Amino acid sequence: MGRIMQPDVLKGKNAVITGSTSGIGLGMARALADSGANVMINGLGDAGEIEATRAAIETDFGVTALYDGANMLEGGEITAMIERAEKELGSVDILINNAGIQFVSAIDEFPADKWEAIISINLVSNFYAIKAALPGMKARNQGRIINLASAHGLVASPFKTAYVAAKHGVLGLTKSVALEIAETAITCNAICPGYVRTPLVDGQIKDQAKVHNMTEEQAIRDVILAAQPNKRFVEVEELGQLAVFLCTDAAQSFNGASLPVEGGWTAR
Ligand code: NAD
Repeated sequence: MGRIMQPDVLKGKNAVITGSTSGIGLGMARALADSGANVMINGLGDAGEIEATRAAIETDFGVTALYDGANMLEGGEITAMIERAEKELGSVDILINNAGIQFVSAIDEFPADKWEAIISINLVSNFYAIKAALPGMKARNQGRIINLASAHGLVASPFKTAYVAAKHGVLGLTKSVALEIAETAITCNAICPGYVRTPLVDGQIKDQAKVHNMTEEQAIRDVILAAQPNKRFVEVEELGQLAVFLCTDAAQSFNGASLPVEGGWTAR
């Protein structure tokens, strides 16, 4: 997939993208930077690799890229990250709540600490980030909030109770926030991807193979992509370009939407 069509469409905007040291979040951070936005990336990982990722965004796209290591399990750290972005970038015009984890298990064997971590990282962190970023957006009467839900925000699968509950919650949060800000120039929407081949899904392929007692190749074909009618993984770049579009003026009337990007999964 090629570069963004309008290279400067987000020039002068400042974006915070949670969980952007890998996968979809990194793809979105790079897509926003490719469109001219300054970015604050966030997430876990090796410090040297994160610094290389951050520096590459600056050199590849000529924008400012900061890194903040806020743990999405800690509300105080999330609040501090938004405050730091406002101070060092000048504003938070775009907030992408993307950080997420997965764990696959039957509910009667689901470790309670994993269940609670999934709800905290995938759902509760969105609350803290939105709560911290909205006052500045309201003061400037502009802003874009994008929450990464999932096809699993719209439909369920077995063995994923925490994730499905969290992602359904993200859609509820998105709709309520959208109604609260409906008369402003801020919008809040959710993106609902099908399967994207990222480290998160690589983990699930292994887990599903184990739960279903099959090979990883069988798990990809018969479990992971079983519900995805186009039978291919969604590309990170497709999601990045959708995020850029949602941040443009052309998307001003998208508010409270749950946008499926899943090859027809939820059309069934
Ligand atoms: P990924 O594992 O590649 O990336 C997850 C990111 O979240 C990483 O940067 C990681 O460091 C960060 N993270 C995890 N725990 C954190 C914590 N406690 N504090 C701060 N950062 C933390 O996963 P991905 O596939 O890119 O997923 C990104 C989002 O997209 C998630 O919300 C996920 O649920 C959603 N999603 C993914 C898929 C898919 O198929 N990959 C499908 C639908 C939705």
